[in-house]
Parts: sequence; C-alpha cells; structure tokens
Amino acid sequence: MHIPTGHRCFATVFLFTMVFLCCWLLLTPSAVVAGASRCHGTTADGSLDYGVRLPRSGPNFSSYSDLAWLAGRTYVHSEVRAIVLAAYQALRHSQPGKVYVLGETGWKHGGRFRPHKTHQNGLSVDFMTPVVDANGQSVPLPTSVFNRFGYAIEFDADSRALGLTIDYAALGAHLVALDRAAQARGHGLWRVIFDPQLQAGLLQTEYGPYIQRHITLSKRRAWVRHDEHYHVDFAIPCPTGAGR
Ligand SMILES: [Zn+2]
Repeated sequence: MHIPTGHRCFATVFLFTMVFLCCWLLLTPSAVVAGASRCHGTTADGSLDYGVRLPRSGPNFSSYSDLAWLAGRTYVHSEVRAIVLAAYQALRHSQPGKVYVLGETGWKHGGRFRPHKTHQNGLSVDFMTPVVDANGQSVPLPTSVFNRFGYAIEFDADSRALGLTIDYAALGAHLVALDRAAQARGHGLWRVIFDPQLQAGLLQTEYGPYIQRHITLSKRRAWVRHDEHYHVDFAIPCPTGAGR
C-alpha cells in the first residue's frame, strides 16, 4: 500500500511524540505527575520543590494581603494546601458565619523567608487570629500596609485590640479542624505557636480538652509575640531532612 510522504512524515512525528510522552511519564518522578510537592531540610533551614499557592480567598477565608499574595508569599507544600483547605471546608459547617484570614507561608521554592526564622520548607503557615466586633460578629482581622499586614496589631491582656476581641471558639475550632484534616491525610501538626499568656482563653473553650490531648502548644515565649497570629508547623515527611 502506498502512503503519501506527508502522511508518513506525520505518522513518524506522532509516533516519536507518543514514545517521548510515555518515556517522560515513566521516568519523571511521580511527585511531578501527581502535582505533589517535595520538602527538604527543616522549617528553619530547608527548601521546597513544586510548591503550590494557597487561594487568595474562599467562602469563609481570605488572604492577609493581595499584594503579598501576588508577590508570592503564600506558597506551601501540596499536602499542607490540601489540609488547610479541608479544614476551612469543615469549618463552613461547624462554624457557620465565622471568617478566617490566612497569613504568610513561604516562597514557591522555600528558603530564607524574611523576617521569619522558619517558613523555609513549605510546612509552616501563619493564620491571623479570628476576631469578633463589638456586636459579636465574626470579622476579618484588619490587615493593611499601615499595620504591617496585621502583624503589628497588639492584643491587650483582655484579648482586645482595635475594638475587636479574640474569638477563641473560632480559633479552637480551627486548630481542631486542622488536626483532623491532617490526620485524615496521614499527617499531623508538629506544633502550634500562640502567645502563652493568651492560651488560657483558648483552653477554656469547648475545644480545650481536644487541644490539650492532641495538639502541642508551644510553652516558650517566641522571638516575636504570637498574639495577632498563630503559627502552625505541619509534620509531613520530606525525602531529605526531618520533615519539620
Ligand atoms: Zn510563622
């Protein structure tokens, strides 16, 4: 049978393309094909391959800054992203009407992330503290360039700032949702850093017993006060390093 030269050419190119694609799929690490990230080292000295960005907003959450989001400061490990989003999804049902604000996470490829001392391998996430207004309504913590995207807000001993009060129940429910979402994916929370003086308010909520039993709250005073945000490090295995 005679096959016109043009068709033969096309068939050859098609064949080579298919062979190339098959080889690529077989030889490329499954991490790439599945879109999974790979962390290296530790949160304090590490890096990240195939980092993924957290969404700018969702039905019950928003990012602390569009500018910082665009600048690429909200990348995480793909497993962290899945856990964070599953937790927000669970909170839509358990905490209707509550709104949450995502803080800083890290660069797409990890590494030094000023001014933070950790956040280097995609496993660290800052969450801005949930608050209620004078009417008890859940509102996002006000974040702008004028208060260092929320990080300059200082809560007093009565858990108040800017006429807003910390919503410990919303915070407690969030930590429980994060822990459960992490467990559901075979992971966990390594530690949570939140101002030791404010932890009493958190532990007095209905979520206190669960938190005390399952979650490690840092007892030491951190290098910066963690009152306007709580820092969560996830325990996820890294091919190189401790995965923390
Ligand atoms: Zn942090």
